[in-house]
Amino acid sequence: MSVFEAMASNGSHEQVVFCEDKRSGLKAIIAIHDTTLGPALGGTRMWPYKNEAEALRDVLRLSRGMTYKAAAAGLNLGGGKAVIIGDPRADKSEALFRVFGRFVESLNGRYITAEDVGTSVHDMEYIFMETKYVTGVAPAHGGSGDPSPVTAMGVFQGTKAALKAVYGKEDFGGKKIAVQGLGNVGKHLVESLVKAGAKVTVTDIDEEKCEKARKEHGVDVVGPEQIYDVPCDVFSPNALGAILNDSTLPRLKCKIICGGANNQLAEERHARALQDRGVLYCPDYVVNAGGLINVYVEMEGYVRDRALRMAEGIYGNLERVIKIAKEQGVTTAEAADRFAEQRIERIGNVKRGFFGGI
Ligand code: NAD
Repeated sequence: MSVFEAMASNGSHEQVVFCEDKRSGLKAIIAIHDTTLGPALGGTRMWPYKNEAEALRDVLRLSRGMTYKAAAAGLNLGGGKAVIIGDPRADKSEALFRVFGRFVESLNGRYITAEDVGTSVHDMEYIFMETKYVTGVAPAHGGSGDPSPVTAMGVFQGTKAALKAVYGKEDFGGKKIAVQGLGNVGKHLVESLVKAGAKVTVTDIDEEKCEKARKEHGVDVVGPEQIYDVPCDVFSPNALGAILNDSTLPRLKCKIICGGANNQLAEERHARALQDRGVLYCPDYVVNAGGLINVYVEMEGYVRDRALRMAEGIYGNLERVIKIAKEQGVTTAEAADRFAEQRIERIGNVKRGFFGGI
């Protein structure tokens, strides 16, 4: 498959940039999917891809996903992503990230990078030496720091909107919520859920984290495999992707799925399967946009309260997605895509015409 064919088959990308520097060993691809709404923002993933075709497929898929996430979150950002071909445990160096930073700079703000799988805040600091088009740098450099409290706030708001849609009230009192994963997002989420009056059951492969949550919040704890069988109102995935699959779906005893984990559906058809079972699936990229909102606020000059307030908007975004699904007879996953596409189309039209200036 040619590069242009690959760009078209992954949803019509604007630009793909191949970057190579023999001295530092850098081999990277930057994909800009769509900049209708603003600069293309998305993290830089470092991964030992087997070959270039695999790296290209991944960067095209991920950059397209960022366009949809930003659009559905109401941000003035487009979608982009970068991949560095290499082993993050063996191939990192100051020179590699600084050269990469210079390639990012050469795009003059069309692409803005951030941390992702295989890269760290430390790596971002090397990139930051060569370009200002990087977010998620350390707070000491004016960065926003850990995004997870903002992500957790968004998941909490999404859960509230889902309760309203299913039960007619956004009341957490007595609602049973099963939380998978007590990492950065999960631990903040559990705290908010318990405070709001929910009855929470948690799991994590790290027993210490479970014990801490039990002691601090009085939650019930089950083993990582049992979480799928817990009778509950809301199942909240905050650990891994692809956990909604053929083997877990028949076990779930919930009315709502709403959590922060990325790529929760193993395959697109699982959204339909959940709907057929009467379960409201809250599309992950709508619910977990708090992290992206956080870096967006960083670009404007970071104020945490502003990021948290903007993440409250996830309530309304999810409400609209659920409405589109009902009105158009599609799954909530398809409705989220339509919601994002609609905004790109409408805002793209706002910029039409000549209104003075040069
Ligand atoms: P994290 O690594 O801090 O936490 C993940 C937790 O899941 C860990 O405590 C880990 O022990 C646990 N876990 C791993 N496998 C498990 C299993 N089989 N069963 C139960 N628990 C398991 O990650 P995080 O930052 O909290 O992010 C969680 C999810 O949310 C990820 O999918 C991430 O991509 C997504 N996400 C995070 C943010 C953010 O702001 N941090 C933003 C958007 C999306």
